[in-house]
Amino acid sequence: MLDVVVIGSGISGLSTAFRLKKLGFEPVVFEKDDQIGGNIKTLSQEGYTFELGPQTVLANDEVKGFFREVGIEPIVASPSSKNRYIYKRGKLVPLPLNPLSFIFSPLLSLPAKLKVLREPWAPGSTKDEESVADFVRRRLGQEFLDYIVAPFISGVYAGDPEKLSVKHATRKIYELEKEFGSLIKGALKKRSLGPKGELISFEGGLFRLIENLSESLEIRTENVVLRVRRKDDRFILDTREGKVETRALVISSPAYTSSYLLKDLSWSASLEFDKIDYVPLVVVNVGVKSGYVPEGFGMLVPRKEGKRILGVIFSSKLFPGRAPEGKDLLTVYLGGATDREVIELSDERILEIVERELKEIFGIPGFDFAHIKKWKRAIPQYTIGYQKYLDLAREMEEIHKGLFLTGNYLSGISVADCIRYSAVKARDVAEFLG
Ligand SMILES: Cc1cc2nc3c(=O)[nH]c(=O)nc-3n(C[C@H](O)[C@H](O)[C@H](O)COP(=O)(O)OP(=O)(O)OC[C@H]3O[C@@H](n4cnc5c(N)ncnc54)[C@H](O)[C@@H]3O)c2cc1C
Repeated sequence: MLDVVVIGSGISGLSTAFRLKKLGFEPVVFEKDDQIGGNIKTLSQEGYTFELGPQTVLANDEVKGFFREVGIEPIVASPSSKNRYIYKRGKLVPLPLNPLSFIFSPLLSLPAKLKVLREPWAPGSTKDEESVADFVRRRLGQEFLDYIVAPFISGVYAGDPEKLSVKHATRKIYELEKEFGSLIKGALKKRSLGPKGELISFEGGLFRLIENLSESLEIRTENVVLRVRRKDDRFILDTREGKVETRALVISSPAYTSSYLLKDLSWSASLEFDKIDYVPLVVVNVGVKSGYVPEGFGMLVPRKEGKRILGVIFSSKLFPGRAPEGKDLLTVYLGGATDREVIELSDERILEIVERELKEIFGIPGFDFAHIKKWKRAIPQYTIGYQKYLDLAREMEEIHKGLFLTGNYLSGISVADCIRYSAVKARDVAEFLG
């Protein structure tokens, strides 16, 4: 019998397994695919090094400490990555970085700016739980929602602000209102509104982290877990290699998979987790001649501007060595909660759209390299009422001692969230195993 099995070799599963190993346990990771890393995939082709999933990690001290333990040195994105752009009426408008540039920015109209200045006096909410859109409209106005928050939400969640819960999807902002009664007052007191940390990757891309994590671990790839049952104080797993018994079980697969794995333990929990919405996303990496995009992180397109592209990351501007001399690597996103049909389009059609819109936005005449990745179920949506899923996960762990649930649908969706949550999960598993 094994002590602890981890299902899934994404960043949630691997970082939990890594910490358990450090604590003296011998976790065995089961991964259904022939590749490890889940969403984290880096490719090198024709002189370009590009990401199919996450591009960067926003690393605070805790996350940097984890990288030190793993023995991997991060590289920090170029200082120009603080520059972000919003596409408005045919132009790239820099996102204002301080109050003065906000006042003079053409991003918002004068009435919209005045509404923002009145934010400290905005009325309180009358609802039990608000959507991100309702919250922002109430405090900062419709234009601020359309041209700043909604593009940001599509950049992070590929989500719809009308559906996402302000409490669960943008918790820090929600808490600023709770603590200070105003976002502006809170930001002034805390001296920042945004999340803290440095944007990092690794030499050769994010997959290096997965490689380093896996070095000391036993990972059984192409080994799907099909069923989980409880017998006395053990879990019995039906895997591709046969039956496996374990005292502790960490399930780090996406909610829709965890749902079927949990069905023998709780039919109702299984049905609930299956309701979590994962939106599709199409990621197109293109190589273009240098000189068309400005220095910066990238740009986002408000839905009001009528384009299909959600945003573009200027990937080769962030880290060196991502594109050949004289070329730029751009990562283009389409789909998300507001344009789910894109995932059904042919590759040719997707390339046509990307080519046309890059030409309209940047004047780029065409590209000499392109790679398309379609994620059918890319990112879980922390929608209104999401607390019930978090409660259910805790309840399942309470009832079935030795079961631990993790993954981006519980920890928060960023890679950094998954890494931080793995410390909590590894500690819980270690306490259980004694
Ligand atoms: C396109 C895209 C861009 C993103 N950009 C960023 C970004 O720039 N920055 C950022 O911080 N975050 C970003 N994210 C989010 C972040 O990448 C993910 O939230 C995170 O990587 C999820 O890790 P995970 O381990 O929880 O899940 P996953 O990566 O989904 O891993 C789950 C693993 O479980 C395996 N599995 C499933 N079922 C079974 C089974 N039955 N048996 C065995 N194995 C199983 C899967 O094959 C997979 O390997 C992005 C996500 C996507 C999709």
